[in-house]
Amino acid sequence: MTNKKSLTLVGDGSKGARIHDIVKAPANTPWAKARQQSWDASEPATVYYTPETMADGTPCSAVTVILRTKGCHWWWSSGCTFCGYFNDTRDDVTNEDLHAQWAYAKTKFDDFKGHAMVKVYTSGSLLEDREIPVAFQETVLRDCQTLGKELIVESRCEQLTEEKLAWATSINTSFAVAIGLEAYDDEVLRFHVNKGFTIKSWDRAVANLKKFDIRVKTYLMFKPPFMNEADALLHGVKWIEDVAERSDEISVNPMNIQRGTIIDRLHRHNEYRPPWLWSLVEMIRRAHPTIHPQNTGNGGEGQVSRLIVHPTAGGRVRGAHNCGACDSHVVAAIERYAVSGELQEFEGLACECEKAWAEEVALEHALPTPLGISKPRRGNVLDALRAP
Ligand code: SF4
Ligand SMILES: [Zn+2]
Repeated sequence: MTNKKSLTLVGDGSKGARIHDIVKAPANTPWAKARQQSWDASEPATVYYTPETMADGTPCSAVTVILRTKGCHWWWSSGCTFCGYFNDTRDDVTNEDLHAQWAYAKTKFDDFKGHAMVKVYTSGSLLEDREIPVAFQETVLRDCQTLGKELIVESRCEQLTEEKLAWATSINTSFAVAIGLEAYDDEVLRFHVNKGFTIKSWDRAVANLKKFDIRVKTYLMFKPPFMNEADALLHGVKWIEDVAERSDEISVNPMNIQRGTIIDRLHRHNEYRPPWLWSLVEMIRRAHPTIHPQNTGNGGEGQVSRLIVHPTAGGRVRGAHNCGACDSHVVAAIERYAVSGELQEFEGLACECEKAWAEEVALEHALPTPLGISKPRRGNVLDALRAP
C-alpha cells in the first residue's frame, strides 16, 4: 500500500521543479546559443532615436543605446520569469568591446548632436561592477556630462547604495535612474516575477536616489505571469498609486511575450493571454486622478508624476491586444496620453470587443480563475477552446 497523493492539483508528492531550472533551460538551447554567437561584440545591439520629454516637460528627442553586455547578475544566478535579455548577452564581452560599442553609437549620431537625452541600456544595471567594468561606467557618465546630455540608465535596486551614488554624481551631476520594480507587492515579486528583491529594497534605493537628487523612473509590469486580467487591473492601479509620490516618471510595460521565457511557455500552453488594450485604458482612467489630481495634463499644476504606457508589440498576439480591428486606434490613444496626460485622448474610442473584455473581467472577479479565462488567440472562441 502506498499513500501517494492522487490529487494532481497538489502534486504527487515528488519534488517540484525549481523555478531556476525552468527559467534557465531555454538560454542553453541550441537556438539561443547560435543566436548569441551570431553577433559582433564591438557593435551595440541597436541605436535609435525617439521623441521624448525632458525632466522640465519640454519636448526633445532621445537617443537610445542598447549595449551588448555580460547581462544581468540576477540572471546569472536565477532570473525574472519574463526576461528574454539572454538573447543579447554573452559572458565574453570585454571593457574594450563596450568602449567600441559606445564609440559606434557616438559616431553614428555625431556625438548625439541635436538630441537632448541619451538612454543607455545594458540588459542589466549600468552601475553594477560585476556586469559593467567601472572604467566603462565612468566613460558613459563623463561623456554625457561633457556633452551636456540628460542621461538615463537602468538599474536593479541593490546597486543604488549611497557610496555608489556619491561616486556617480561626482562624475555626472544630472542623470536619471530607471528601476524595473515591476510590482509594488512582495508576493507578486516573489511568486510571479521571481525578481530577487523586495519592495523594501526599492524603498531604500529610492530614498538614496532622492538624497542625491537623482530622478527616479519606475517600471511597472502590467499582467505578470500567473495572473488574470481582472487582478492585473486591480493591482496595476494600486501599484501606480503606491509609487507615484516617489517616482518622477512611471512607465507601465504591458507584458509582451519574449522568446524562450516562462511567459512564452504559458502563452504557448494556452494559459496566458497578454493584456487587453481596454484594460490599459481603464487602468489609466482609474490612475489618472492620482497622477493629475487637478486634471491639468502633463506639465500642469499639481502633477504628481508622469504616467507613460507604451504597449510594446501593441496590437499583436504576443503583445497587448484587442480584437484586431480597433487595436491601432487604441494603441495610438494610449501613446498620445503619455505625451498629453489628458483623458480626452480616449473619447470616442469604441468597438464591439469592449463588451467581451468587460464580460471577461467581470467573470474573473466572480470566479476563482487564477490564470484567467481569456483565450490567448484571436478568432472563434469555440475553436480556441477545442484546440489542444
Ligand atoms: S533584473 Fe532585469 S535584466 Fe535581470 S533578469 Fe530581471 S528583468 Fe532581466
Ligand atoms: Zn475591437
